[in-house]
Amino acid sequence: MKVYILQLGDMGNCTYIVEHKKQGLIIDPSWDMQAIEKILTKEDITPKAALFTHGHYDHVTDAKDLLEKYRIKGYIHYDDLDASNLPHKDMITFESDHSETLAGLKVDFLSTPGHSKGSVCIKIGNLIFTGDTLFPNACGRTDLPGGNPRDLMLSLQKLAKLPDNTVIYSGHAYGADGTGSTTIGQEKTNNPFLKMALREPENFEDMI
Ligand SMILES: [Zn+2]
Repeated sequence: MKVYILQLGDMGNCTYIVEHKKQGLIIDPSWDMQAIEKILTKEDITPKAALFTHGHYDHVTDAKDLLEKYRIKGYIHYDDLDASNLPHKDMITFESDHSETLAGLKVDFLSTPGHSKGSVCIKIGNLIFTGDTLFPNACGRTDLPGGNPRDLMLSLQKLAKLPDNTVIYSGHAYGADGTGSTTIGQEKTNNPFLKMALREPENFEDMI
């Protein structure tokens, strides 16, 4: 398994291509379909599905072109389907924690509402793609439609139960090193929001 990281658009969005035996899963394809197609062609990867962490426009822009071109399905939580504006006929939805085998890989969609109602984190092996739920040293905002601070706190608590060596790839390149990558262990030590959710949950909503 190999992960290709693309930073696309002017909001520091991260799109990821997870490759396994030349089959690919594309996570949050947005902004620049040509850049994504270029890697797929160069590395001879056949895309099998697009996986969306949530439906905000900066994570889905132009993704419908990719779904149509490669005739693949997109996976998104039902509660973010309408916000995504993605064509319903091309989408597969689910309403709670959900698992699929895609591109020969077990993919676990963990329901993690808070940033949006239908936000999920996508776990593949010891990797987790956290979208806008958890960033290096930060977490997603909750002031957009469907956002909810208490839900986000519970979602952060849920993520903290993953093994410390779980590698995080987040939805924006907000990390100090210019990437969106970190680990659950690092975040449990450093991330003030995750620490507050675990140690002083009663104060979390005041912090955010
Ligand atoms: Zn978002």
